[in-house]
Amino acid sequence: MAQLQLNQLEKTYGSGFKAVHGIDLDVQDGEFMVLVGPSGCAKSTTLRMIAGLEDVSGGEIRIGDRVVNDLVPGKRGIAMVFQNYALYPHMKVRSNLAFGLRLQRQSKEQIRAATDEVARILEIEPLLDRLPKQLSGGQAQRVALGRALIKKPEVFLFDEPLSNLDAKLRASMRVRITELHRRLKAEGMSSTVVYVTHDQTEAMTMGDRICVMKEGRIMQVAAPKELYNRPANLFVAGFIGSPEMNLIGGRIENGAFRTEGQSVPLMEPLLRRLKSRPEAAVLGIRPQHLKLVAPESEGLDARLNSVEFMGHEVYLHADLDGAPVTVVATAAEYEALGRATGPIRIAPEAEWIHVFDRDSGENISLA
Ligand code: ADP
Ligand code: MG
Repeated sequence: MAQLQLNQLEKTYGSGFKAVHGIDLDVQDGEFMVLVGPSGCAKSTTLRMIAGLEDVSGGEIRIGDRVVNDLVPGKRGIAMVFQNYALYPHMKVRSNLAFGLRLQRQSKEQIRAATDEVARILEIEPLLDRLPKQLSGGQAQRVALGRALIKKPEVFLFDEPLSNLDAKLRASMRVRITELHRRLKAEGMSSTVVYVTHDQTEAMTMGDRICVMKEGRIMQVAAPKELYNRPANLFVAGFIGSPEMNLIGGRIENGAFRTEGQSVPLMEPLLRRLKSRPEAAVLGIRPQHLKLVAPESEGLDARLNSVEFMGHEVYLHADLDGAPVTVVATAAEYEALGRATGPIRIAPEAEWIHVFDRDSGENISLA
């Protein structure tokens, strides 16, 4: 059981390229922390430095009360699960699980007990005598998890472990891993996790907290609900949430947000909350909080271009003064509209409006 701390952690690759720009992160004992961000933002580099697979260029990594910068991977108390889980093909599942313990020269009895326990926790007892090629993708991934679990590490490190699985299996493995984490925690076993993914859905559904990264820097660290409701900047606002938040460029003038030729009145308390009145502003509103309204009501004129039918809801893709906007409507609201393209009128729900400074990207409307 341990907490993990990154203090001003930096990485410059041999080529001179600076991949990680001095990041600070505290992961609590037993916490499930997700690192999320687009490809290339240095999630893997950060995780590999924690694991000891990549040298640190600056700063400090602490696991529990030890600085581990100069420890070899085997001495750090970590276990890692990769996207390519690479089980030993010629070994049965039982031997794959036991491999690490054999290297540690544990006794036969100890190894058998540990293997049985892990197989029970992961519900893979019926698979113990199979070879990897006799497993489905999801089963193989569970064995890979088992190989990490059996080491009883202080910190689990995952690098996109579900990326190779199809969508359905990914969804069920998400739930399985979250449940496993909860169970380990309840049983008082070590359960500190750093989980890397580029998939915001995985981040939102699995993380106790999420660390959003961009180009080797941290943009925000917060619980999923906080990130969703109170994004600190344009990057987080656009990255978290599906479909994406609408971001509409304009300016603030006389208590209203103005685009080319149109305006939305901004209400108190939003106006009072605004930290500044930048020249160039961006209004952020999630597609669920943009409503279809009658032509004569307060709102914005847009042009409906296409429609995605999702079942109980419908995504309306429209154009607002040249900017793309998405509205999530109920099937009934869409049917009442009576057509699939043409002019529509839309209004943001006042309490869900965010305002960003276009130049700094900062959310200037947070209470
Ligand atoms: P992510 O896992 O978020 O997709 P990575 O950590 O793999 O990102 O990479 C972060 C940045 O560092 C990228 O720009 C990548 O090209 C660069 N990078 C990764 N590994 C090396 C390396 N061995 N040498 C030089 N640059 C690297
Ligand atoms: Mg990566």
